[in-house]
Amino acid sequence: MRNSLYIIGLAIGLTSCESQKPVQKIATNPKLSQKTTPKPAVKAKPAAPQSQVTREHGVDFFRTNIADPTKKDNTISYGSIVSANPVPYKVVKTYFPAVAQNFRQKYIILHYTALDNDKSVSVLTSQSVSAHYLVNDMPDNEVYQLVDENKRAYHAGISSWRGAQNLNDTSLGIEIVNLAQDAPGGGFIFPDFPDYQVKKIAALVKDLATRYQISPVNILAHADIAPTRKQDPGPKFPWKKLYTDYQIGMWYDDATMQNFLAQTPPESLAEQMTSSSFIYKVQVMFREFGYGIEPSGTWDEATKKTITAFQYHFRPVNYSGVLDAETYAILQALLQKYPK
Ligand SMILES: [Zn+2]
Repeated sequence: MRNSLYIIGLAIGLTSCESQKPVQKIATNPKLSQKTTPKPAVKAKPAAPQSQVTREHGVDFFRTNIADPTKKDNTISYGSIVSANPVPYKVVKTYFPAVAQNFRQKYIILHYTALDNDKSVSVLTSQSVSAHYLVNDMPDNEVYQLVDENKRAYHAGISSWRGAQNLNDTSLGIEIVNLAQDAPGGGFIFPDFPDYQVKKIAALVKDLATRYQISPVNILAHADIAPTRKQDPGPKFPWKKLYTDYQIGMWYDDATMQNFLAQTPPESLAEQMTSSSFIYKVQVMFREFGYGIEPSGTWDEATKKTITAFQYHFRPVNYSGVLDAETYAILQALLQKYPK
């Protein structure tokens, strides 16, 4: 199993090697070393810095940030460079690196596979679903990469968050081996995620979020971006621990939540639950927070599933899909902390 993944990785590496010319060509470019007259575009617009390109294992990398560091919107440009090979011409990567660039990767979406290790690998590598990474449930030191980070994996499906759609285009997908399954009498059985697996997930998400400057607001469950279709990674996924121990993703401040709870205690909320204007207001709040929900003024099925997804993430002790006072207070605390 792992051998086959290794072979896939090796094949990708070999392809990269073949598609690019040796680094010496770049470093000893005769046009630069002999100080011949540069192309007019260089004189006309000299502001672009020379990039520092290094090569490792046949892949070129930017080692310095050539993007505009004053912009806080995901503008670091470290990383591998994939280039065209327009025979018989050459692509020169060091002349004109642009500051106006950012990463396409803006979201990290977490899933469970609902399959064991072997079946997870088999399905995610041979069928019409995939993810960038697969975290097994074994206490070893491996995380499997299935898809290049610069390519699209098929993990999110029809999805939305804060108005963005089709998150396969802009996300990194992480599948986690976990044997969640349908319960015999309805509902689901959600097994725990073992500590050694959580540590792997945390290290992986931390690395991705740091390298791509992914906002905490955009580190999400599959259920968050597709609440009417998906449950994963479910209520056992330790979002609070990831936030507390690793500063990953979102969590509410307890004091703020308690303040909101005092403003709308259970008995007060119960009175409002039948008011369509209150339901509409709550639906708008869930929408503002990020969920792709259409306000209707009724507790319709999509709203119940959206509340369930929210509770999986932020109130896992009660994921009934019914708005209780704590859920409402948590929603308000999160909206205040992470405004749109
Ligand atoms: Zn999923």
